[in-house]
Amino acid sequence: MRIYISNNKEYVDDIEYDLGANIFSFIELNNTEVSSQFNKILTILYDKSIRMNNKNLINESKNFATEIKRIHPYFSIVSEFIVDEFDLDFEQRSKEKLTKYLQYFYITIPQVRLATLYLLQTSFNIEQLKDKTWMQRGNLYLNNLFLKHMIQESNILPSITLSVKKDVVIKTIDAKKLIDVININFLYLYENRILFRKCKNCGKFFVLDGASNIQYCERIIPGSKKTCREMGAVLIYQKKAFDNPVAKLYNREYKKRNARIRYGMISKEDFNNWANAARIQRDKCLRQRITLDEFVNWLDNS
Ligand SMILES: [Zn+2]
Repeated sequence: MRIYISNNKEYVDDIEYDLGANIFSFIELNNTEVSSQFNKILTILYDKSIRMNNKNLINESKNFATEIKRIHPYFSIVSEFIVDEFDLDFEQRSKEKLTKYLQYFYITIPQVRLATLYLLQTSFNIEQLKDKTWMQRGNLYLNNLFLKHMIQESNILPSITLSVKKDVVIKTIDAKKLIDVININFLYLYENRILFRKCKNCGKFFVLDGASNIQYCERIIPGSKKTCREMGAVLIYQKKAFDNPVAKLYNREYKKRNARIRYGMISKEDFNNWANAARIQRDKCLRQRITLDEFVNWLDNS
C-alpha cells in the first residue's frame, strides 16, 4: 500500500484524505465487521481439503480483498497481499504463507489500535503533558513499554521512494504492516508539531491546525446541518452573553419592566419603545462606546 503525507493531507494509494481522518476512523473500527471478514476467509483456509486453485477460495479471497479495504483504507495492505498471492501461478501460491499472514495481520489489529490511541490520547494530545518537551512526547510514543516492540519492529520494513511534488520532496512508503502507517503519521505529526484535542461536543479527536484554543471539531452533528464548531460558537456566544454584566443588567431590567405591563403600570407600546431604546444603549455599551456607569445611569433615568 502506497502512503505519504504532505501539506496536511494523507494519500493512501493516491486517494486524498484529511490529515488524521484515517487514524480517527481506525480507532473507531467496527470489530464485528472486521472479525467476520477474517473468520470467513480463515475458515475456508483451515479446511485441509481445499487447495489454492479452489474456485470458492479464489472467489472468497477476491471478496475479502474488496470488502476489507472498504471497511478501512489502511486494510489495503492485506488486500494487496491476497491479490498478489493469487496473481501467482497455482504451484507458486502458498496456502501456509497466506494463512499465517492473515492470522498475523488479524491479531495485530488490536495492538495497532492501541498504539494509535496512545498516539492520540497521550503523545499528541494538547491537554496532556502541557509542560513536556517534544522530545518527551516523541519518546512517549516510541518507547512505550507495552508497544515498543511492535512500534520499533516496523522501522526496518517500509521501503521509501522519493519524488518531488511542487516544492516538496515526497516520501512515499510502501507499507507492509499496519503499524507502518501509524508510524508514518507519527513522523509527520512530530515533524510538523501537530497536536490533537478531543471535541467538547462529540468527544472525538480532531487536528489542531495552528490555533490551539479551538475546542470543537468540524464534524456534522448527526441529525443536524451544523458542525460541532458552529454549534460551539453559538454556545460560547450564549455563555458570554449570559455572563456579561451589560447583558445581565439589560435582562434584569427587561424582566422587571415587562412585569409592569401585567399590573397596568405601563402600556405595551411604552414598554416596546423603552425596550428598543434600551437595546441600542446596551449594544453601545457592549461595543464600549459608553461606559457601564453611563449605561446604568441611562437605565435609572429611563
Ligand atoms: Zn465534534
